[in-house]
Amino acid sequence: MALTVENALLDGERVGIRCADGAIAAIGPGVVAEPGDEVLDAGGAHLVPPLVNGHTHAAMTLFRGSGGDLPLMPWLEEKIWPIEAKLSAEDVYWGARLACAEMLRSGTTRFWDMYWHPEATARAVADAGIRATIGAPLFDLHGSPEQLREMAHRGLEVLAGCGPEITPALAPHAIYTVSEGSLRWIGELSAERGLPVQIHLSETEGEVQDCLAAHGARPAFYLDRLGLLSERTVLAHGVWINPEELALVAERGATIVTNPVANMKLAVGGVFPHPAARAAGVPVGLGTDGAGSNDSLDLLADLKTFALAQKHAAADPTAIDAAEAWAVATGAGAPRLGATRLEPGAPADFLLLRPDSPELGIGELTANLVYAASGAVVDTTVVAGRVLMRGGEIEDLEEIVVRVAEHGERLGL
Ligand SMILES: [Zn+2]
Repeated sequence: MALTVENALLDGERVGIRCADGAIAAIGPGVVAEPGDEVLDAGGAHLVPPLVNGHTHAAMTLFRGSGGDLPLMPWLEEKIWPIEAKLSAEDVYWGARLACAEMLRSGTTRFWDMYWHPEATARAVADAGIRATIGAPLFDLHGSPEQLREMAHRGLEVLAGCGPEITPALAPHAIYTVSEGSLRWIGELSAERGLPVQIHLSETEGEVQDCLAAHGARPAFYLDRLGLLSERTVLAHGVWINPEELALVAERGATIVTNPVANMKLAVGGVFPHPAARAAGVPVGLGTDGAGSNDSLDLLADLKTFALAQKHAAADPTAIDAAEAWAVATGAGAPRLGATRLEPGAPADFLLLRPDSPELGIGELTANLVYAASGAVVDTTVVAGRVLMRGGEIEDLEEIVVRVAEHGERLGL
């Protein structure tokens, strides 16, 4: 079944967009529906590419509102890890379903996920119709390297047959929770199978100091020494990364995903140095991090925080402009994150923004999206030519909210 959206606004021009077999078949001023198409009248809504959430832990919607206003390590050790030890696949499924619904509602159609029971997240992604790169979190801090390898293989196995919307990845949690030998092994496995790797890096200053003390190198150089810094690597955070490390990251072709809201909530004491990363040529994306540490998954709202944090940290309002911030949020600045363009042949993923939205009624669209809008301006979300949200309504959302509350209660959250 083909879908044609008519009467949309793209860069100020009335256009149609026709989708067939999950891809954009045609887009432009003369494009109209063909006989048999499902037709959607956009009513003059702005047509824009969707957002890519470059780093999250989807099922952590279960932990929303239970953060306790703590710093990173006490938060993990007191609030998160003891409860995660009790998580079932069903808990993860419903937490991830809620995350998918929230992301679709606020304009995200692809996300990068690191979480327990990755098969449950994959099932939630498939049921929601969204896209994701998923990795089982790999730790050997409280276990053995053998257990870590088993977890990695099992994660890849269960994700392998999950359909085209799921990309399997390796997800070592961090350099302070995974041993040197295991990190090296993960680097080798990634190279051998061409698998993406996502890892938290340089989130806190303490992590950098500990790395220097234990390994005699800053975190990016340490990762590189272990063969884990390549064009397949996505580094979450990079708050405390320095110019020499940025040059190395750029040379290796790795991507950095900044998560400004989670960083501010956990008060990591710094801001990701985006102007320096841009100067070095590092591909940069934007993430929310999990709802346990954000606590929202509205990437469009976080985009404002990202831009403002950059301006504020640089004491310079020109440190980043709206067009560049928008490119970061849509993944256009970091090709490895999997964003697609609004052009024939590309996957049919796009958004229609409410034409009557007060935040978008006057002025320049991109500036309004960055500085005035939140996810509430998204009216329609389409993934692979399927309308997953229309008029701000997502099917099953009511049931999902009820089920998440039940699972949260079971876990004592
Ligand atoms: Zn994270």
